[in-house]
Amino acid sequence: MSPRTIAGSTAKPAGPAAPAKSKPKSVPRRRKLGPEQVARAWARRLDARRPGLVAFVLDRLAEANGRPVWQPRLDPVSELVLTILSANSADINAEVAFEALRAAYPSSAPIPAGAPTEPRALPGWGGRGLPDMPPPDWSSVEAAPLAELTDVIRPGGLANQKAPRIPAALNALRANGGSYSLEFLAAKPPLEARDWLAAIPGIGKKTASVVLLFSFGTPLMPVDRHVLRVSQRIGLIPPRADPDEAHDMYLAMLAPEQMYEAHVSLITHGRRTCHAQRPDCEHCPLAPRCRYFDPKAE
Ligand code: SF4
Repeated sequence: MSPRTIAGSTAKPAGPAAPAKSKPKSVPRRRKLGPEQVARAWARRLDARRPGLVAFVLDRLAEANGRPVWQPRLDPVSELVLTILSANSADINAEVAFEALRAAYPSSAPIPAGAPTEPRALPGWGGRGLPDMPPPDWSSVEAAPLAELTDVIRPGGLANQKAPRIPAALNALRANGGSYSLEFLAAKPPLEARDWLAAIPGIGKKTASVVLLFSFGTPLMPVDRHVLRVSQRIGLIPPRADPDEAHDMYLAMLAPEQMYEAHVSLITHGRRTCHAQRPDCEHCPLAPRCRYFDPKAE
C-alpha cells in the first residue's frame, strides 16, 4: 500500500505550491539552406579554418606536374559524345567506342593533308588519346537503328545504357539550331550553358561541365571520381559530399581562371599518385596538408 494512503502518519505536509509550468517558448525553425548557400558556407568555413589550402594544392601540383593551360581538345560535339561514352568506363574503352563510331559512320569531310594518324594525348584524359581525324558523320549516327548503334559501341562497355543517349543528344542539338553544333553555348553564362546541356536526357552536370570546360574554357568544375576522392582525402570537400555538391562547392571556392587548372591537376594527381587503393602518400607533395595522411593537418 502506498504511504500516501495512510492518513496522519507518513503523509508529508503540503509544501508550497509548485510554480505553474510555463509554456515552452517556440524555437524558430531553421530555414533549410539551398545548395548554393551550403556551398558558400563551406567555402567560408574552409577559408577561415584552413587558410590558403586551395592555393597550396594548386601550387604544389603545378610544381610536380606542370601548370595546366587550357587548350581545345576536340570539337565540342565529339567532346560531348566521347564524354557520354566514358561514363562509368575507363577512358581507353571510350576511345575504342568512339573510333568504332568513326569507322561505322565515316565522315565525308576530307582528312587534312599530313594529319597525324597516331593518337594525340588529350589533356585531362586517361586513355591513349585520339588521332586528329574528322568526327563521325553525326546525321548517320543519329539516324542509325538503336540495335545497330548499340552493337557498334559495344566494345566500349555499357552499350545498352549509352547508345540511346547519343542520338538523344544529337537530336537536341539539331532541334536547337538545325545543325550539330554547340558553339552557341560558348556565349551563354556558365550555369545557363550547363543547365541547357544537362536538360538533355542522360547528360548530367558533370558531363555538361566537362564538355563546356574543355570545348570553350567555360569556368565550371567537373567532379569525377578522381577529383572527388583526392578532394575528400585532402579535406577540400567534406567527406560525405556527392559529386554535384562538390561541384557547387568548387564553384564557390575557386576563381573562374582556376577551374581548368584545378580539374586537370586533381585528375592527374588521382591517376598518378592518390590512387583509390594504396595512395602513394610517401611521395605526395600534398601530404603536409592532407587530412588522410595526417588527420590534424592544418
Ligand atoms: S597524402 Fe596521400 S591521400 Fe593525401 S593527397 Fe597525397 S596521396 Fe592522396
